[in-house]
Amino acid sequence: MPISDRLLMGPGPSNPYPEVAQALAGPVLGHLDPEFLAILDATNDRLRQVFATANALTLPVSGTGSAGMETSFVNFVRPGDPVVIGVNGVFGERMCEVAGRLGAHLIRVDAPWGTPIPPDDLLSAHPNPSIIAVVHAETSTGIRNDIAPLGAGKGDALLLVDMVTSLGGIEVAVDEWNVDIAYSGTQKCLGVPPGLSPLTVSAAARERMVERPSSWYLDLNLLSRYVQSSAEGGRVYHHTAPVTMVAALHAGLGAILDEGLEAARSRHAECGHLLQDGLEALGLKLFAQADHRLPQLTTVEIPSRLPDGTTEADCRQMLLSRYGIEIGAGAGQLAGKVWRIGCMGHTARRRNVLALLGALKEVLD
Ligand SMILES: *Cc1c(COP(=O)(O)O)cnc(C)c1O
Repeated sequence: MPISDRLLMGPGPSNPYPEVAQALAGPVLGHLDPEFLAILDATNDRLRQVFATANALTLPVSGTGSAGMETSFVNFVRPGDPVVIGVNGVFGERMCEVAGRLGAHLIRVDAPWGTPIPPDDLLSAHPNPSIIAVVHAETSTGIRNDIAPLGAGKGDALLLVDMVTSLGGIEVAVDEWNVDIAYSGTQKCLGVPPGLSPLTVSAAARERMVERPSSWYLDLNLLSRYVQSSAEGGRVYHHTAPVTMVAALHAGLGAILDEGLEAARSRHAECGHLLQDGLEALGLKLFAQADHRLPQLTTVEIPSRLPDGTTEADCRQMLLSRYGIEIGAGAGQLAGKVWRIGCMGHTARRRNVLALLGALKEVLD
């Protein structure tokens, strides 16, 4: 199986949209070339559409999704600030690690992995938090956490949401939900290789930015000047934008918007259901609570009886070497307990789901 034929059905990266591959093969422009700057501006406009926001400060941070997470905390957390963080998977844990390093007064709200975090638990965790942070789509468990009730009940707190696996795959409505800070990643449902982290910040949150964050590279005071319009004083160089990755993101967002956001989400939903029904038809048990199950990331329990002499890792390896299909291992406390199957971005197609189900049946027979 040639490596170029890989079908990426792990927790990310997904297969890129064909338009993205074309952009990656295009000419490299200078990072201050007006042609590149026009692509950057258009990319930020497209990000606003996909995030469903009018936020002026919307940009792709250089770095993967974790760079967006770090940017979101380092610019808003001062030592001692009460920060409420929901934890029902690996990425909620990572948020705690990042906020803890900044000296936040951490208020952790845990929910069992595979279940959503009740919004009221987050809202009542502290009388006056500076930030309430939660992961929208937990890629380690396949669970969606509800965001809208948090925006409605957050009071003076800033609402900080990880949208790495949700953006482009399920509904995201930054302005309608009252989200103040949100970040994503390119390699999940946006169907672009890893390397950028789309970020958006509300006007209210901008008023509360740390003046001199401990990270120079991720300082939004400086980054915002690099993307500002001429009306706002024009651009000020900060660091060399990864021009090719920006062009790739521009193309990926273009593919999604051409298809239509709604249509792209329906495609993810349809493929997720086809996959989940198909796994159950094979006699496998889904892990995530049914009413908050993500279509784009499915966790399935590893069957207790595998073919003679094989481990769960052998099964994944067989899928990869025989069929060219990658699925993911369990992460954190779910290591060895579940497999994680992604149906994200360009990968979310019926034919891919059917190929995986057929291959998995052969492997498990
Ligand atoms: C993948 C992921 C991240 C981390 O992104 P990287 O691109 O690996 O840095 C953060 N949060 C969630 C929910 C993710 O799925």
